[in-house]
Amino acid sequence: MTALPALDPTLTFEQGPIRPPSEARSLLLRFTRNCPWNKCKFCPVYKRRTFSRRSLEEIKADIDAAAEMRREILALSKAMGHGGDVSAEVVNRVFSTPTVSDAFRNVAGWLYYGTGNVFLQDANNLVMKPEVLAEALRYLREKLPEAKRVTTYARSSTAAQRSVEELTMLRKAGLDRVHVGLETGYDPLLKFMNKGVTAAKQIKGGQNIKAAGMELSEYVMPGLGGRKWWREHAVATAEVLNQINPDFIRLRTLRVPERIELHKDLVAGDFVKLSDDETAEEIRLFIATLEGITSTITSDHMMNLIETVGGKLPEDKPKMLAILDDYLALPDHERLLYRICRRMGRCREPRDIDRMGLRSDLESNLARIEASGHNADEVLNELADSMV
Ligand code: SF4
Repeated sequence: MTALPALDPTLTFEQGPIRPPSEARSLLLRFTRNCPWNKCKFCPVYKRRTFSRRSLEEIKADIDAAAEMRREILALSKAMGHGGDVSAEVVNRVFSTPTVSDAFRNVAGWLYYGTGNVFLQDANNLVMKPEVLAEALRYLREKLPEAKRVTTYARSSTAAQRSVEELTMLRKAGLDRVHVGLETGYDPLLKFMNKGVTAAKQIKGGQNIKAAGMELSEYVMPGLGGRKWWREHAVATAEVLNQINPDFIRLRTLRVPERIELHKDLVAGDFVKLSDDETAEEIRLFIATLEGITSTITSDHMMNLIETVGGKLPEDKPKMLAILDDYLALPDHERLLYRICRRMGRCREPRDIDRMGLRSDLESNLARIEASGHNADEVLNELADSMV
């Protein structure tokens, strides 16, 4: 039997710390490092890390490394008799090779899943000079033929500064979708959270991206307004989105772990967190206020209480509101059981409890919490914060 070709242990490229949930099966390439703003009170991600730009040469060298990994993986597939198909057996072989880098494994997983999705890290690649970003995109498309959809994070304040012509050039160079952390459209709250943008700029940034023909995914943060501003947050955010009509509206509920700046406001009493049930009510008001748009809503984040609140506007709006109404109408004990189930990562929606036969197990868990003398709300809160 001929020996299989070796995988080069020196091959690697740089990757950043996060990606959107929808990019779980994407190739991750880092075009800039960290966040150029880095001041939002609720954001734990890039703290104590300095923003820096990567040169076009560095980015191209990373793409070259990814292309070489691809070549080695396809050669391995052929040598294993799979004819260039990256099957489970081929990807297992790569994953079980202890000397390969995490980036190598990412390329193997990407080829195996065959999504063709590439996510460009980190927080705001639109801050790059448009010509440099366009050149990097063209190079990526040339060297990695499997790349189908290329997406990135961006700040709406930067998108507002880019002309539609510049953004169109980026789309033509291969940037298909932009993920924007809108979080809220309520100006006093944007200011309090130090988001560094106004609602007017959020609208302009979003409209610019759409006018350039790119897909736009806007992240909204339920709970961000706290007790003081939950209504204003829900209504103003929906009104901003009504003027943008993004392709996707993604919910990602606020958590306040100790390491974020907002925690100081929480301790000082300047910010009061919403309960899970109050957050469900806020989301209901938010969705009810969305009008005249055709966005798809998703709740595919572990922080969210009910993952199945999602669908296409306008037709699925009644269904989404009904899911929230049904939850809010449950007896206290049922809501508590569901919250335990959700925070343990076992349920996506309340009916999963009986559908998956989890009731007696959840009752035992609740009894254990109560017997320990701990407050169930506090335990669930800690569990949820530990996921951030
Ligand atoms: S702009 Fe985004 S990544 Fe940067 S600090 Fe704010 S939320 Fe975090």
